[in-house]
Amino acid sequence: MPSVDVLVEGIIKGDSSTLGRAITLVESNRKDHLEKANAIVQKCLSQKRDAIRIGITGVPGVGKSTFIEALGAQLNAQGNRVAVLAVDPTSTQSKGSILGDKTRMDELVKNPKAFIRPSPSGETLGGVARKTRETIILCEAAGYNIVLIETVGVGQSETAVHGMVDFFLLLKLSGAGDELQGIKRGIVEMADALVVNKADGDNIKKAAAAAGAFKRALHLYPPKENGWIPKVLTCSATENSGIDAIWEMIQGYIEQNKKSGYFLEKRKRQNRNWLYESIEERLKSEFFQNGNIAPEIEKFVTEVMAETISPFQAAAELIGMFKNKS
Ligand code: GDP
Repeated sequence: MPSVDVLVEGIIKGDSSTLGRAITLVESNRKDHLEKANAIVQKCLSQKRDAIRIGITGVPGVGKSTFIEALGAQLNAQGNRVAVLAVDPTSTQSKGSILGDKTRMDELVKNPKAFIRPSPSGETLGGVARKTRETIILCEAAGYNIVLIETVGVGQSETAVHGMVDFFLLLKLSGAGDELQGIKRGIVEMADALVVNKADGDNIKKAAAAAGAFKRALHLYPPKENGWIPKVLTCSATENSGIDAIWEMIQGYIEQNKKSGYFLEKRKRQNRNWLYESIEERLKSEFFQNGNIAPEIEKFVTEVMAETISPFQAAAELIGMFKNKS
């Protein structure tokens, strides 16, 4: 493996195979790799490129990869360099990835101005999120000015991706029923736009009706802290219609937020959260991977289950041991 400096130089030159190798270091759990990765990320951070980070979520089958392919092609054609990353903790939990196990984005993969990286594996969502955040930084240092981060519309991974992007887009289907029941509150609070995909053929009218219902539902929510009211649009990823309007909307959002100062303020807040999460992640892994502690945990688990010690007392004792032994 080349030195840190050689890797950083290759990344900054925009060499995608060097970028790939550096991301492999970021994704590794080996201690020596981690140290090297930290040094690379640190150097890449000083590059300060001006990229836009966009999160895209939606249930499996809604058309995320087709949409990203269409949007990515358009962005590339306009001269942008696009990186596509994924956050999919299900790949390690269920051994079958929701996002990864099909051939995806065939066209974008072939485009030299695009870089596609599947979800890193990690034991925890925290691990996956850390790796993705660092990968974003490397991609930006490599000159990718638009980073699209895809996640499955199930569980906590949406929250994690929301915490690392400037704009969060939720893809929906018409007729899925939830436009009538209202939409999950959490996701509405996160989404900056709702896009009804598959607005083509017989589905055009239904998609427009669903968009209308979503708009009405969204009116029941207060505007976001930056005054933005989430937009509702329709598109067809397969027919490539409506994609340019979506991009215009995103650009409008970014411009508005840069002017008001909210864009930078949000990035700063995200950095603060990353700091806290990194501390937690690091402490946890040092604790659980500590060779002296692991057998002790086993013993305490037995005692807790036998109710000879309370879980709180056991935790206090284990942490005390950890402090003494580390
Ligand atoms: P993902 O699981 O969210 O990534 O969804 P995919 O992009 O793999 O799409 C799932 C299926 O929906 C595929 O068969 C796509 O061809 C189809 N699909 C995606 N976008 C559209 C669209 O805009 N219109 C129609 N009719 N089908 C679409």
